[in-house]
Amino acid sequence: MTRVTVLAGGVGGARFTRGLLQQLASDDERIAANDPFGGPERALAGTSAHAGTAGEVTVIVNTGDDMWLDGLRICPDLDTVMYTLGGGISEEQGWGRPDESRRTSAEIAAYGRGWSWFTLGDLDLATHIVRTDLLRGGATLSAATEFLCRRWKPGARLLPMSDQFVETHVRLAADADEHRAGDLIHFEEWWVRYRAGQPVTEFVQVGLADAVAAPGVIDAILSADLVILPPSNPVVSVGTILSIPGIREALRATTARVVGISPIISGAAVRGMADTCLTTIGVETSALAVGLHYGSRQRDGVLDAWLVDETDADAVPALEAAGIRSTAVPLWMSDVAATAQIAAEALRIAADLTAAAHPATHDLPIAEFAFPGPLRDQLVAAILDGSKTSTTSTLIEYGIEDEPLPVIGSRQVVIDSAGRPVAIIETTGMRVVRLGAVDLDHARAEGEGYDSVAAWRVGHESFWHSDDMRAYLGDPAFTVTDDTEVVLERLRLIEVLPRA
Ligand code: GDP
Ligand code: CA
Repeated sequence: MTRVTVLAGGVGGARFTRGLLQQLASDDERIAANDPFGGPERALAGTSAHAGTAGEVTVIVNTGDDMWLDGLRICPDLDTVMYTLGGGISEEQGWGRPDESRRTSAEIAAYGRGWSWFTLGDLDLATHIVRTDLLRGGATLSAATEFLCRRWKPGARLLPMSDQFVETHVRLAADADEHRAGDLIHFEEWWVRYRAGQPVTEFVQVGLADAVAAPGVIDAILSADLVILPPSNPVVSVGTILSIPGIREALRATTARVVGISPIISGAAVRGMADTCLTTIGVETSALAVGLHYGSRQRDGVLDAWLVDETDADAVPALEAAGIRSTAVPLWMSDVAATAQIAAEALRIAADLTAAAHPATHDLPIAEFAFPGPLRDQLVAAILDGSKTSTTSTLIEYGIEDEPLPVIGSRQVVIDSAGRPVAIIETTGMRVVRLGAVDLDHARAEGEGYDSVAAWRVGHESFWHSDDMRAYLGDPAFTVTDDTEVVLERLRLIEVLPRA
């Protein structure tokens, strides 16, 4: 199963995610066709509509476009994603509900209130009323979103980027109606009222200083197999998500592959006015420039790979030279099937990157820590977080399987309790000593929290005297003493392997 996390704005992010879910669902059908009895993973597969064997999707949604209007909390991008994935979107608008009426907005306007240029449909208003009611009752935006999604069943987990209110504002370069040059106005006013036609000097995330990532956001990036930057606005959608403390760092730290899809085709934003946003931050409107703006994870950026449209194939060499894997494929999300194809390309390039990164994994000897189960899970976790840099075995264990003693400089693949390769380690030291001669430094480096040799000894004796170990050694009375010879190995973590 592939865990995919998408960082989305509104329309572009929503449409892409719909294609991704479609692609994963058809992968499921292929898996089912090849496996008529269903594997254990199938039985455990999630209960939501699209969560099958092939993948599980989390969408981290931009909330920088959110605002208070007519006393209600409006979350344009969250609603666009929720309606699109839940089958409640107006296809021709790309946002809002189909078959809308505007009677309530007209009444509000008759009082001279509201924003005349930002109409809210009557059906859509119900969503804002329910959300606002939940927020007023003390719910977080995450909890309110989860509640709304119970109705729409989007088939993916939707997380707001932050539970704090962070609102994108623009600083006007010139006077406009009642506003003066230098004023900050809400992004949506600039976008919808002025169609991004008023020059601005900068984007400002109001509230950012007090914001943290919403619960689950950082973990969804760190524990993913694949993170996708869909064709969303790189400045005011993805750029805003990346401005939340910790999110960019998580993208740089994750063992997942990070694959982006260009929202710019042939030097133009496909829909909307992303070009104006890019110009404002000094980035050229081209697939190449946006890819370089995100940058390679090998340098100080966030991308492993960047898909460009087939008409932008000439950008590929420059992207590759900058350390970003790139390929040119059709990127028009003209319908769900075409979008699913784009998602398939993203999954493919991620799989290629993973395969290319580990050509030699299968040739390396396997390092097994303890027996499969909680103890191995704990030891493997300590290796993965770098806290375990020593390990101890009785010399007699090496005899059981005629295993050679560790060789300094040699590398091994660490497997977890399920037998999956999880890391590559290197032996950096090896000594054979009497058990009574083990020192505190070695005991501490086991990464199991031992603060004395005596505590270390108690822990290890319980392992060596366990039924599992005695059965393994074929000696029901196996007991260690001060004179038992033990192999003290020192190791270092070379690489954490991405989950297959
Ligand atoms: P918003 O919050 O509704 O503006 O939506 P997003 O930020 O998610 O996405 C808007 C961006 O999606 C626009 O800037 C477009 O450049 C891009 N976009 C829209 N349709 C397509 C498409 O069919 N293909 C590609 N590659 N990009 C698209
Ligand atoms: Ca938006």
